[in-house]
Amino acid sequence: MAFKILLANTRGFCAGVERAIGVVQRALEKFGAERVYVLHEVVHNKHVVADLVAKGVHLVEELSEIPEPSSKVVIFSAHGVGLETIAQAQALGLTIIDATCPLVKRIHHKVVRAANAQMDVVIIGHDGHREVLGTVGQYEGPKDKIHVILTPEDVANLTLPTGEHQAMFATQTTLSIDETAKTVAALKTKFPLIEGPKSDDTCYATQNRQAAVKLLAQHCELVLIAGSQNSSNSRRLSEVAAQYGTTSYLINDASALTDDMLKHVTTVGVSAGASVPEYIVQDILTALQARGATSIEPIGDIQRHITFAWPEGLD
Ligand code: SF4
Repeated sequence: MAFKILLANTRGFCAGVERAIGVVQRALEKFGAERVYVLHEVVHNKHVVADLVAKGVHLVEELSEIPEPSSKVVIFSAHGVGLETIAQAQALGLTIIDATCPLVKRIHHKVVRAANAQMDVVIIGHDGHREVLGTVGQYEGPKDKIHVILTPEDVANLTLPTGEHQAMFATQTTLSIDETAKTVAALKTKFPLIEGPKSDDTCYATQNRQAAVKLLAQHCELVLIAGSQNSSNSRRLSEVAAQYGTTSYLINDASALTDDMLKHVTTVGVSAGASVPEYIVQDILTALQARGATSIEPIGDIQRHITFAWPEGLD
């Protein structure tokens, strides 16, 4: 079983994830582990979360789980939260550190402006995903004026006001670029006056990681994506590889590799979702070498290193 590995140059941690993890680490140093609580997984990766919990961070799903809140610090995850959650945290007297990715925040501001203008808002995204819940939660107004859809079929069932400045759309940041383009096209065809971005609100990391995976798919019979099952951007990478003609598996780490996956392959592509630490990728490469990989060749554009400023309270 001899094969070569093509390793996507653009892979792994994005600026928003690096910042969110750094926020938790800085908060630990500044406030001490006993005071620091993170609402929901700070990023969707099992290893990152386990590493932070091992450092003493408390993970909660509800603010009401935090004991003696007036002496505690709550960190909102990179996916963002709705206005009600912020108000609840303030009412409890929690010190708030907001690790919401600035690119998600930008979408929040658009939704707030649309709500103030009493426009209907369409969010293209996965209903129930943390980011979508947080974005929907920015809309203060009648709840029947905010709509979550995903596919062109959903557009067919959608009713919106059709006049000027009456409806806008935004998208989740981690969607499939190709699939989202179809939904946006259907939306603009049915509602020509709807306002929104030229194409979508997917972020730079989603775009360049999907482009890198398409390149891998052209050169490999198998594409392995490192990432957790609940990571939207990682799942999309695996789906993109499959859509572009290869077999693809989303694996949490090297322990998920099997000999069956590698049967009859001569070239294996490797990439990682935006919430995946590089050591997970390196473990996978080592495991592949132990199973017969003869070389590792980098492929695609080298990614630019982008950083975001620290949030208020940690700057
Ligand atoms: S995937 Fe994009 S939107 Fe999400 S945290 Fe990373 S940079 Fe921000």
